[in-house]
Amino acid sequence: MIKLHDKYFKPFISSQKINEALQRMANDIARDVGDEIPVFVGILNGSFMVVSDFVKKYTNPCEVTFIKLASYEGVKSTEDIQRLIGLTQDLTGRTVIILEDIIDSGNTLAEVHRIFKNEKVKALKIATLFYKPEAYKKDFKLHYVGIEIPNKFIVGYGLDYDGLGRNLPEIYQIKETQHMTNLV
Ligand code: 5GP
Repeated sequence: MIKLHDKYFKPFISSQKINEALQRMANDIARDVGDEIPVFVGILNGSFMVVSDFVKKYTNPCEVTFIKLASYEGVKSTEDIQRLIGLTQDLTGRTVIILEDIIDSGNTLAEVHRIFKNEKVKALKIATLFYKPEAYKKDFKLHYVGIEIPNKFIVGYGLDYDGLGRNLPEIYQIKETQHMTNLV
């Protein structure tokens, strides 16, 4: 069990499970993409570990870039998504694969679709390591999903709680009933 700010978190998904999921996603994408050179677009901040580990498993030629969006405040998703760093490269005619750390409500994904609406890409595909089906409120297709998880807040592996926890190599889940007496 760990404590970040005022909340307690318990171990939830191991590095091994994360690596297995990323390997499956890399294999599936390589199979579908064939001879094309895809452009992987990571959504910062949360996806930096996903992108770093994923591209090491994707052994075919590829390009990698990032955009920076933000929608979370504390442990709640907000609809007010800000675009902080946009696209800098011409993606006309390219197969673009978005690499997300987690898809929750889908608000961030809606913003991603808005950003790419005017780009003349050949194909836009969505890959996410974690997906909360109970929280997802949109209709956009998710092409590659690593691990489905319940609708509870997680930290680690790039995901933070108010700035903390991104450096944890494994995933921790929020502990909702916090019996303080058991923790001391
Ligand atoms: P959505 O816009 O789909 O609601 O949420 C997407 C973004 O919110 C993710 O890229 C991530 O930054 C953040 N997020 C969603 N669920 C969680 C969670 O359980 N834990 C953390 N730390 N961030 C989350």
